[in-house]
Amino acid sequence: MKILIANWKMHPDNINEAINLAKGSDFENVIICPPTSFIQGAGEVLTRAGLGAQNLEFSGTGDVDAKELKSLGVTHVIIGHSDRRKNHNETNEIVAKKVSLALSEGLVPVICVGETKEERDAGKKMEVVNDQVVKALSEVKGGRVILAYEPVWSISTNIADGEEVITPEEAYEVILFIKQIVEEVYQNLSRNVIYVYGGSVNSENVKEFLEFKEVGGALVGSASLSSSEFSKMIKLIN
Ligand code: PEP
Repeated sequence: MKILIANWKMHPDNINEAINLAKGSDFENVIICPPTSFIQGAGEVLTRAGLGAQNLEFSGTGDVDAKELKSLGVTHVIIGHSDRRKNHNETNEIVAKKVSLALSEGLVPVICVGETKEERDAGKKMEVVNDQVVKALSEVKGGRVILAYEPVWSISTNIADGEEVITPEEAYEVILFIKQIVEEVYQNLSRNVIYVYGGSVNSENVKEFLEFKEVGGALVGSASLSSSEFSKMIKLIN
């Protein structure tokens, strides 16, 4: 069974639309990650899909921590998304701390790793990904983990306008590399890790990205904001 994790980012614009989107995306093997303020409302209408968050925090006023998320029925939490690494200066050390906080509350961390265009062009793709994976798992003692390979340059690209997106073969090659790192460095965890791909996945390309047995699913941004597109995707893969 392959999974789809829906990252709604800062969408939709209001709670009523969020509830409608949740209802239309309520399938088995799906984890819906609404913005924090819509988690409770979306969670109340989900009967089959799991509920996720897009981040957790630990510093103080205005933050939302793992315990609060758990009390809303959240089971999964995205950590280290490139938006947060870039816009909130989230380092590998902060990612590692968040991963361990998530696990300590029994939440499954969906850890995002992936190189920027500049890093790729400089031939540093594998080095960057290796560093992110090794550090993100450095405080983990056990528990289930999802590792999402999201090459930053392939996220939310406009494929129709000819913008560049990673090929399924290249994504697969990096996912195998990540799996190998986990098996070598964190042997005790390796049985409990699922590897997914994220970046411009939609109903046109989802089958190609997920055709490899080691790729356990996809993290989906823009295409998860339309329930008809998203339901098409889940039907295509399982
Ligand atoms: C994301 O932001 O995690 C993502 C995968 O977005 P998109 O599907 O829009 O590329």
